[in-house]
Amino acid sequence: TAFSTLNLHADLLKNLTSLGYESMTPIQAQSLPHILAGEDVIAQGKTGSGKTAAFGLGLLEKLNVKRFRVQSLVLCPTRELADQVAKEIRKLARTIHNIKVLTLCGGMPFGPQIGSLEHGAHIIVGTPGRIEEHVRKGTLNLDDLEILILDEADRMLEMGFQDSLDEIIDAAPQRRQTLLFSATYPPQIKSVADRIMHKPVMAKV
Ligand code: AMP
Repeated sequence: TAFSTLNLHADLLKNLTSLGYESMTPIQAQSLPHILAGEDVIAQGKTGSGKTAAFGLGLLEKLNVKRFRVQSLVLCPTRELADQVAKEIRKLARTIHNIKVLTLCGGMPFGPQIGSLEHGAHIIVGTPGRIEEHVRKGTLNLDDLEILILDEADRMLEMGFQDSLDEIIDAAPQRRQTLLFSATYPPQIKSVADRIMHKPVMAKV
């Protein structure tokens, strides 16, 4: 299916063409219509499936660049994945001027992250432990969050990030869109989804 069948902003669509993204991957075709409709979505997809563009296009389509507030948060299990996700989002967003995508990961010094947060960002990508610390310290405010994304949710739980995820979710508005991506769907993920998502649509490929 072609991206042009979706109701994407013309500049996003033009950029996809210039990136050589012609048709949607299965996970994109299954999830994007629901994501763009504002629904909560659970999608089963691994690295290489095109999942980053699925949620990346969803959050970019909804973003208001003139509102310099954190509007989307992407939680990833590792710094490597967070860097990869941020890179893909920046690539998808290269036609949107003045957009700020910030990565916040553990193992990196705090000072520069606090400085970057003071300057502001539209999109945050990071690991749960460090994001939780910023929420606790009050250096990251999630009052205007519209979309929360859990990427590789199964790995985040395996790594013991459950408590951090709970803290972060408590600090996010109740009224938000939540997207959950996971390679596997064990009972633990289902119970998290039941707690934090609202009538999620299942996109399985
Ligand atoms: P991901 O599964 O998100 O890590 O993406 C895997 C790779 O596929 C990335 O390098 C993307 O740039 C690329 N990609 C994502 N969606 C598409 C698409 N619809 N057409 C071509 N390449 C894509």
